[in-house]
Amino acid sequence: MKFNTKTIHAGQKMEETSGAVMPPIFQTSTYAQEAPGVHKGYDYARVSNPTRTALEKLIAGLENADECACFASGCAAMDAVLKMFRPGDHVIASNDLYGGSYRLFTKVFEPFGIEFSFVDMTDLANVKEAATENTSLLWIETPTNPLLRVVDIKALTDFADNQNMLSVVDNTFASPYLQRPLDLGADAVLHSTTKYLGGHSDIIGGAVATSDEEIMEQLRFQIKTTGAVPGPMDCYLTLRGIKTLSVRMQQATDNAKQIAEFLDNHPKVGRVSYPGLESHGQHEIAKKQMDDFGAMVSFSLKDDAQERAKEFMSQTEVFTLAESLGGVESLVNHPASMTHGSIPKKVREAAGLKDSLIRLSVGIEGADDLIQDLDQAF
Ligand SMILES: *Cc1c(COP(=O)(O)O)cnc(C)c1O
Repeated sequence: MKFNTKTIHAGQKMEETSGAVMPPIFQTSTYAQEAPGVHKGYDYARVSNPTRTALEKLIAGLENADECACFASGCAAMDAVLKMFRPGDHVIASNDLYGGSYRLFTKVFEPFGIEFSFVDMTDLANVKEAATENTSLLWIETPTNPLLRVVDIKALTDFADNQNMLSVVDNTFASPYLQRPLDLGADAVLHSTTKYLGGHSDIIGGAVATSDEEIMEQLRFQIKTTGAVPGPMDCYLTLRGIKTLSVRMQQATDNAKQIAEFLDNHPKVGRVSYPGLESHGQHEIAKKQMDDFGAMVSFSLKDDAQERAKEFMSQTEVFTLAESLGGVESLVNHPASMTHGSIPKKVREAAGLKDSLIRLSVGIEGADDLIQDLDQAF
């Protein structure tokens, strides 16, 4: 089945009692039982809810996974994944990653005895060097946030397989429209559905898709036990958002390409990071593992001027200055003080994230309007 057919139909069926074509919002906390323990598959909504099930089946279909578990947020999904590990376990993660992931790893799980190494995963040698006999997980994010580096998923998952480590890919930036990590050997794929899957900046949600029964069993146990679940209304909105994923993602990607080229040729711009530019360090890997290059672009002004960068971000009119990404509207963000403020400056800079960096989440507006907006802000 073609991807854009799946976004409408994967795992979906009409509602049985009425024939409703759209999934109803099952706004209930509990379900009637015929006799103790005899029910229609649902007993309590912390464990499961039919609207959530419809969303889980849809995301599983998009990621070519057997199953998917949905969470109250991307961070709740990461939290559940990390709880599969135990004190003494070692995790290797990218040194350029979502700030909230870094905070969760270092401020919540490190004190409980899980160890982390943050390395530049664009070079497999760094991963090999960091690996110990206790390494049990490779945490892969690609394209990375906010520097848009691309790491070779297949090379990393092959290495993880050889060493008996699990590999999990945070696929939030690419979305399954552009990249399907399970097909490249990952054990599980994670999303902040808040971003491209929801696509309209109106919900917070997370998901983990996998074909590994043992992983899914542990995640379902976490859901039942800790209860970080999305409400049925949010599941409904996410289902609705995903129906247009293909068209949104393509339009946003086409816009981003034009913007990346505009910036690359602009006299006031220093470095532009966009995997679709031939000058991008991992352009060839991006071509190999992604169907297109995505809608996130980051850049700095000439001379890494930080104050002028902040000024620039306050001058845009179509681009809204805000955290988050992946919605239909274009956003501009200052990673150092916003999305990545929880990473200490020294650690940020060691990873190449300068305070002058500007990150764009390109939306689906007219490319000309977006370019004109950036131009006037310079
Ligand atoms: C936003 C984001 C998350 C966290 O998701 P929330 O839904 O905000 O909790 C995780 N990873 C990446 C790459 C993100 O962009």
